[in-house]
This record gives sequence, structure tokens and C-alpha cells, in this order.
Amino acid sequence: MSKLSRNFIAGEWSQGASTIPNINPSDTNDLIGDFAQADISQLEDAFSCAQIAQKEWAETGLEKRQAVLMSIGEEMMARSTELGELLSREEGKPKAEGKGEVYRAGQFFTYYAAEVLRQSGDTADSVRPGIEVDVRREAMGTVAIISPWNFPTATASWKIAPALAFGNAVIWKPANLTPASAVALTEIISKQDIPKGLFSLVMGPGSSIGQALAESPKIHAISFTGSYDVGRTIAAAAAKNLTKFQLELGSKNPLVVMDDADIDIAVAAATGGAFGSTGQKCTASSRLIVHQDIHDEFVDRMKLSTSALKVGHALEEGTQIGPAVSEKQLKSNLDYMSLARKEGCEVVCGGDALDLGTPGYYMQPALLTGGDNSMRINREELFAPIACVIKVADYEEALMLANDTEFGLVSGIITQSLSRATHFRRNSETGCVMVNLPTAGTDYHVPFGGRKNSSFGPREQGKYAKELYTQVKTSYISSGTP
Ligand code: NAD
Repeated sequence: MSKLSRNFIAGEWSQGASTIPNINPSDTNDLIGDFAQADISQLEDAFSCAQIAQKEWAETGLEKRQAVLMSIGEEMMARSTELGELLSREEGKPKAEGKGEVYRAGQFFTYYAAEVLRQSGDTADSVRPGIEVDVRREAMGTVAIISPWNFPTATASWKIAPALAFGNAVIWKPANLTPASAVALTEIISKQDIPKGLFSLVMGPGSSIGQALAESPKIHAISFTGSYDVGRTIAAAAAKNLTKFQLELGSKNPLVVMDDADIDIAVAAATGGAFGSTGQKCTASSRLIVHQDIHDEFVDRMKLSTSALKVGHALEEGTQIGPAVSEKQLKSNLDYMSLARKEGCEVVCGGDALDLGTPGYYMQPALLTGGDNSMRINREELFAPIACVIKVADYEEALMLANDTEFGLVSGIITQSLSRATHFRRNSETGCVMVNLPTAGTDYHVPFGGRKNSSFGPREQGKYAKELYTQVKTSYISSGTP
């Protein structure tokens, strides 16, 4: 087994207890490789080494820590074409998106490299004369990072970079559908001059390795991105040890299109937001809530833009929509199409599996109309290139339906009215709101996260990341004079 299919545990590239095949979803004849699967005893090695390495790392000078993060970020950006293609080959997003993701992941490291040097704390006089108070942040210790397949490099990077920047050791368990991207990032980190075992990659099944990480008292904080059901399992496990944790979960994001919308902006935002990355985005707008006065024109224009999307092999020039990530995901997408028909939606275009030049999990993006917000198709996260138009009478109904969901990650509104946009921003029950923009697409220097069942715990990204990766210490210092 080549080094590039192995785990990296306690500073060594190690074989697993077993392997899993990594298959290209654009061409199932293309085996990317067999990748290691750790067992629990290997995880124990990662724990013990991390504990020692973290102490050394937390005491390492700030400029050294800054330089390590900068070096990781710069290499990722410099190699974004090569690593983006690898990502696209195993995950299925078009190669421009794969490249963009790796480049963005590099930016998380360079951003947090700078953050290492932005040290700040508080000082105060005690209420008792002659005593000073110093408030500072310290690292948590060993952090477990459990990440999904849909943004395999970016999601992991926006967790690993702040974890290391704030002085923690990291044990990373990526999703089993995207191990090659995990190994590629690990290889870059492994070349750095960092304490042995500070960073471990432990690929393995979520039900054993992921669960063991969540249950371990040797883990001091957990950052998880993935599905709602797994998130609840992790929350229950973490709560037993009072381990600090953060969850970023699924969603059912609404894009509201008002009667005064610029129709070009509306169609571009809905098409990109609903179908980009094959709809496999936690920020995808699968509910298009449209004012009745613009409904028919919007649907006609969306039919044209959706039908024009080029579905194809992720690495082929011109592909706009890649395959579903797996056979299971494609089956789920097609099952949701059957459900939508049964629930009474009209299929305006798309929705069928496609036979293309290579055996892959292809599907034509689907636009549905005639839906209402109580249908399962409009309540459950689909993770599919399927969007349903829900017709509404006015702004009040649009806002009410937008908020009528158990999720709350992102919402959007397309309108030329400042007052409606402002009212929507203030009354939308989501963690992120977009005005005249797609629901997907966020920056790295500001917080990202949701409300309701979409998120739990501190926000990720920007300065807010320190809430998970550090803990506050208050010291009282007496000068010793009476
Ligand atoms: P998933 O929940 O199936 O898996 C996520 C990770 O958890 C994987 O690494 C998996 O191996 C691991 N895991 C599985 N069972 C586990 C267990 N019992 N204990 C610990 N770990 C376990 O999610 P997925 O299919 O990889 O990703 C898709 C989901 O991720 C969608 O719901 C999507 O909305 C969500 N997501 C959310 C965001 C966000 O920021 N809110 C971003 C991207 C993806």
C-alpha cells in the first residue's frame, strides 16, 4: 500500500486494520485506490501522542506557529489545480469547483496564520486594592475533527487551521467517501516541522472510529460537520464526558423571490444556489418561494437555465453539474423524485438518471412546481439537484414559509426593496441571510453557522472560531505589597 493511501498516526504513515476502495463517481471503472481503515487500538496511539505533542506546540513561539500555518496554506493554494482535480475525481464536483475549494481551504490556513499573531486578552484592576486581573485564552488540548464528504478539504481546513492556530493537537476523521483529499492535505501538514503526533489522520468507519472519538474522555473538544442524525449521536456521547462540542448539520434553505425582483439576478441565484455542486451543499436552496405575480415568468426562465446545465464527468471541460457522490445518493435523489410526483408536484424539467459516456451516478437537475411547504420534499434535506417552487401571495406568506422549517442555516431574498430586504434580514430564523445573492457561497473571515436543527455550539470561521478552540483563564495577581 502506498503512503498516499495510509493513515498518519502519531507521526507515522500507518497501514490500517483493513482497507476500503475509493471509486470515482463520474466513472465507476476508475478505482482511485484502496485506503486504510484504522481500528480502535490505532486511535489510542493517536491519543497518547497528541497529548504530549500539544503541550510542546502550545509553548512553541507564535512566529513559528504562524509560519507553519502559512506554509500549509501557501502549498495548498499553489497546488490547487492538482489537488482540486483529485478532489473532483473522488467527490464528483466539476474541476473548477474542486480547484476553488482547495484554494479556499488554503486561505483558511493563511487567515489563521495571521490570527496566531493577533493575540489579545483583557486586563483589569481587581475590586480588591493592589490586585490585578489578567484574562487570557488557552488551548483546549486535543481536538477531534469529524468532517463530511461534500466539502472534504474546505470543511476540514476551516476546523484544522484554527485548532492548530490556537495551540491544539488535532485528530481528524474524514468521511470515507473522500479519503484521497484527506491524505493529500495530511501529506502537506506532515511535512511541517511540528511535534510528532500533533496532527493525526485516522480514516475509518464513523460508527467505530468516529463514535470512539466522540466518546473519548481524552478528547477536549469536538468539531463535527455532517448530518443531523449523526450530530445528535455525537452530542449524546460528548455530553457524557462534558466535552465541549460544535455541530454544523443539514438544512432546508429557502430562497424568496419577490415580485419586484430583478429576474436575471433571481434566476442566476436560484440556478447556482440549487444545483451547484449537484445540490450536495448544506447551503443549497431547495425551496424557491416565489411571489405569484412573478411566478410564471420565473418558472419559464428557470426551465431554460436548468435544462441548459451541462451534466457530465467532473474532470471534463465544460461540465457544470457532476454526478451524485455515490450509488446510494443517486438512489435517494431518484426516490425523492418519485415522492415529489406522488405528493402532487409537477416536474417542469429533469429528474431522471442519465446515461453518459462513462458509468457514473448522473442525473438531470430537476425543477418542480405546484409544491407546498408541508410536503416531505419541502421539509427534508435532499442533498440533490432538485428544487421546488412554492407559490405565495405576498411577502408575509413568503417570510412565514421561509421560517416554517426545523432547520435554519441560510436563507435568501431577491428583491429591489430595501425595506423588505431589511425586514427579511431581521426576521429570517437562520444563521446566515443573503440579499440578492445565492444561498450558497460564504467568506472565510466572518462567522458561519445556523440556528434550530442546523447547528449547535459556537460559530465556525473568522474570529468566532476561538470560542470552540480555546478556553478562558482569569488570573489574579497581587503585587505582594500591603
Ligand atoms: P454524515 O453525518 O453521514 O457523516 C459525517 C461524518 O461523520 C463522516 O466522517 C462520518 O464517517 C462520521 N460519522 C458517521 N457516523 C458517526 C458516528 N456514529 N459517530 C461519529 N462520527 C460518525 O454526513 P455526510 O453524509 O458525510 O455529509 C452530508 C451532511 O453534512 C449533510 O447533512 C449536510 O447538510 C451536512 N453538512 C453541513 C455543513 C454545515 O456547515 N452546516 C457543511 C457541509 C455538510
